[in-house]
Amino acid sequence: MSRTLSFLLTALLILFPVITGAEAVPPESVSGWICLVCGSSGEADLCPVCSSVRGKWFCQECHTDNMTEICRGCGQARDASLRIQSTDTNRLNAWPAVLYLAMSNDPDALLALAEYYENGLVVQRDRTYALALYEKAASTRYGPALMKLGNIYDEGVLVPRDYFRSMEYYQLAADQGIPEAWWYLGTYYEEGSTVNRNYETARQYYRKAAELGDADSWMSLASLSAGGKGMERDFTQALEYYEKAAEAGSHLAMDYLGYLYMAGEMVEKNEAKGLAYYHRAADAGNARAMFALGVAYQYGQGTEANLTEAARWYEKAALAGRADAALALHALNQ
Ligand SMILES: [Zn+2]
Ligand SMILES: [Zn+2]
Repeated sequence: MSRTLSFLLTALLILFPVITGAEAVPPESVSGWICLVCGSSGEADLCPVCSSVRGKWFCQECHTDNMTEICRGCGQARDASLRIQSTDTNRLNAWPAVLYLAMSNDPDALLALAEYYENGLVVQRDRTYALALYEKAASTRYGPALMKLGNIYDEGVLVPRDYFRSMEYYQLAADQGIPEAWWYLGTYYEEGSTVNRNYETARQYYRKAAELGDADSWMSLASLSAGGKGMERDFTQALEYYEKAAEAGSHLAMDYLGYLYMAGEMVEKNEAKGLAYYHRAADAGNARAMFALGVAYQYGQGTEANLTEAARWYEKAALAGRADAALALHALNQ
């Protein structure tokens, strides 16, 4: 889709309820058919809002419009195309597909539809209905929906905060093999406010998450070891876990290792190594590491001082949202 069209659709997204004048209807109260072009429901052969013919759909692969189950341009099946469309980051474009798939109880589409109602996109905001949709998506033990409900009760959005219920949902999600669910459960046992503190259980849960590929759980394991929680402090082990976290792609770990080597904390000071970790973290999008690189280049830590490079990193960090980097850049340019 062209950028202009995309911007236009975003603008329409805000105006959409006004334009149609019709309220988007929840899937269970749709009578007739869903227009795959605009998401309205119709009874006659033409969509009452956009006048598209019943059953017309746009192929997401080759942008041909179709009336049959299989795309005449590229052979893509309609439902496969709708599934792609339903994940479009442009919510207005995704809407007809989300609504259509949610009607057949597709759990991802139910989750997406719930977000529309939670945030009042395209439809009138309806938090009660949003919650019902999340619960419906979770009713088949669908892991991402269980996680979402865990977060909802954990953070007290849509519902009053209820840590016990959130733990129940995280446990159900963990049973479905969702790594972050184990991590959340681990934090409850580490904090010990909802359940009795138990560092050993926390450690076991972080370990499960880490071994299922949750990089940041290695960070939590490292912090238990470094903090001597439920054990003797063990910096060697902590360092090993930070490195595992970095290997698994945690930019937080890369940044923290950069700091440890720069400062000579827990390890023998090695600024060149620190700088290398900061570079990895910055490449992975870590704004704090970008700022730290600015400092390193400005003052020559682990490298020759280089004010051009320093300015470049401060600018990147500022663009990534670090206000202190904007100030540092301003000071450097004085
Ligand atoms: Zn339509
Ligand atoms: Zn096609």
